[in-house]
Amino acid sequence: MTKTDWIKQEIEGLQTAGLYNRIRTIGSPQGAWLVVDGKRVLNFCSNNYLGLANHPQLTAAAKKAIDELGIGPAAVRSIAGTMTLHVELERRLAAFKGVAAAITFQSGFNANLATIPALVGKEDIIFSDRLNHASIIDGCRLSGAKIIAYEHCDVASLEAQIKENLAQYRRAIIITDGVFSMDGDVAPLDKICAVAQKYDILLMVDDAHGEGVLGKGGRGIVDHFGLHGKVDVEVGTLSKAFGVVGGVVAGSPVVVEWLRQRGRPFLFSSAVTVPDAAACIAALDILEASTELVDRLWDNANYFKAGMKELGFDTGLSTTPITPVMLGEAPLAQQFSRELFEAGVFAMAIGYPTVPQGKARIRVMISAAHGKDDLDKGLEAFAAVGRKLSVIK
Ligand SMILES: *Cc1c(COP(=O)(O)O)cnc(C)c1O
Repeated sequence: MTKTDWIKQEIEGLQTAGLYNRIRTIGSPQGAWLVVDGKRVLNFCSNNYLGLANHPQLTAAAKKAIDELGIGPAAVRSIAGTMTLHVELERRLAAFKGVAAAITFQSGFNANLATIPALVGKEDIIFSDRLNHASIIDGCRLSGAKIIAYEHCDVASLEAQIKENLAQYRRAIIITDGVFSMDGDVAPLDKICAVAQKYDILLMVDDAHGEGVLGKGGRGIVDHFGLHGKVDVEVGTLSKAFGVVGGVVAGSPVVVEWLRQRGRPFLFSSAVTVPDAAACIAALDILEASTELVDRLWDNANYFKAGMKELGFDTGLSTTPITPVMLGEAPLAQQFSRELFEAGVFAMAIGYPTVPQGKARIRVMISAAHGKDDLDKGLEAFAAVGRKLSVIK
């Protein structure tokens, strides 16, 4: 026995259970079609909701910024000074979201790791949706606060937990995903917000899949529900609809200022690069100029989902462009994904632990980059594989 034999055994266990994740290699830019493991396939995997990941306006802005400012920020912002470009991005993000201030991070994951421990600690309590994203779960654990998971999107469960626990703690925060990434359902943020106000508790929403998707022109879930000024902390990512990389926290100046002083991934890790920041600003230019891409995204999503339902597939609880195709057991989902790939469609199977046991699925990510002909090709492939594997008639 060597010290790492247990890892080999764990990996073999994953393979037997159909849970081993073989990562495919992409040899082309992002878009409706990709070259994956050398094969040209329809892209149903990326979070490139608006097709910005390879948008000429973003690539041009990134190149121009490199020529003017180079690439790396070369140090942590709070130690060696921050570039005007990052400050400009934060100003623009705050304006886009309709809030007073914003702070950016290297990723959405880091934004959660920075924010939660800065706001609550050992004497405090967190009410967290059971299906919250892994980065929220990790941020909660890092904070040392008591964590109470309430039932998914269940406001009655949330309120019951608050009543039972609140008095024993110094401070409290409610944290929820905006759009849940595996099911595509939307948190009832209006009702959650009412509860937060009733008990005078901080409210934080992670809008990673709502940024650029929900609300007017993609302004996110707070705009979608008309809750401006009522949600204390809005976390977002610049790596999905924005097509670049990075995280953001938008909210009140005092929260943002506190994160500049106490957000550990801000204080101990360098910022995103110059071309990243410049490309994000270009993405904001596009989003502020027109709702065209967001509208096309929703048209495409509605078209594809209607087609899938007509074929007899179960697309779960989704009310957003995230389209889960519920299959049940992980080996079936993996086989379905392999067959789709043979048929020229790249759509990954998702199993435990990303989703609960027995709830394996294929997750289709619809984008404004798809044309109707692309979506029709996708529907044809799903129909053929679905019949072959007896998922549909
Ligand atoms: C994707 C995602 C993140 C992580 O965002 P990155 O910018 O890729 O780190 C965080 N929270 C939620 C809800 C997400 O879906």
